Amino acid sequence: MKVFISADIEGVGAVARHEHSRVDGREYAVARSRMTGEVNAAIAGAFDGGATAVTVADAHNVGLNLIPEELDERALLVMGSPRPLSMVHGIDATFDALFCVGYHAMAATRDASIVHTFTGRIQEVHLGGVRIGEIGLNAALAGAFGVPLTFLAGDGAACREAEALLPGVRTLSVKEGIGSYAAVCQHPTRARAAIRAAAKEAAANPPAVKPLVLSGEVELVVRCTTASGADRAGMIPRTRRLDDLTVSYRGADVIEAFMAFNAMTCLVELVPFI
Ligand SMILES: [Zn+2]
Repeated sequence: MKVFISADIEGVGAVARHEHSRVDGREYAVARSRMTGEVNAAIAGAFDGGATAVTVADAHNVGLNLIPEELDERALLVMGSPRPLSMVHGIDATFDALFCVGYHAMAATRDASIVHTFTGRIQEVHLGGVRIGEIGLNAALAGAFGVPLTFLAGDGAACREAEALLPGVRTLSVKEGIGSYAAVCQHPTRARAAIRAAAKEAAANPPAVKPLVLSGEVELVVRCTTASGADRAGMIPRTRRLDDLTVSYRGADVIEAFMAFNAMTCLVELVPFI
C-alpha cells in the first residue's frame, strides 16, 4: 500500500498566527519543527498500518518547511516550487490513499485557523459547482488519479469541512480555532500520538470514502478579494469575467482547471496593493 501525504502548516497544532506560518515570522522555526513532528507521526502511523511506501509533499509557501534530516527516513520528500500540481505534486494512480496533515479550512470560514485558499487574495473557489478550499482542490486532484483522501489532520474547522465534502473520511483535530488567529491546542506530544494512531487506523482499515471524481469538463469559479486581483486572474486565456471580483474558467478536465487556478494564484499575488 502506497500513501501520499500532503503537509501544510496552518492546521498544525500549536500554530495560531502568521508569526508561525510566515517564513519570516518570529515563531516560524518552531512551527516548522512542529509541522515536521506531525508529519513524522503520520508517516509512522502509515507504516504501522501496513503502508509499504510513503511520499510526502511539503505543501506550504514555497515548499521548504519540513526539515529533511528530521523527517522519517523511510519517506520520500517532494520539496520546492513551483510545481504543476502544487500541494499534491507527485501523486499518481500507483498510490492507494492521500493523507492531509496540518490542513486548514477554506477562505472565509469563521473560527478556523489562519484560514485561506492558497492566498489571502482569494475569497471563494467553486469547482464543478461545489464551493471548496485546499481540502477539496487536493481531494479532486487525487480523485483524478482514482486516489481517495482517507485521512486528514488539522484544526476542527478543517475536519468538519473534510467530513462534509468526503463522507466517511477519518479526521483528527489538533486544535479548535477562536476566530482566525487564536486557538485552543492540544500539547504537541499528545497531538502527534493521536495522529499516529489515527493514521495507522486509516492505513490498516481504509475508510469507505470514495475518490472525489469530477469527470469531463469542469467549471472553475474564483472570487478574488479585490477587482485588481480579478483583473490579473482574468489575464489567463479563455477566462470569463463574471462580475467585479469573479472570473471563471472551463477546464477540459480537473487537472487543467487546477492548472488555471494555480496560475491565477500566482498572478493575484503580484497585486502589490488595492
Ligand atoms: Zn494552506
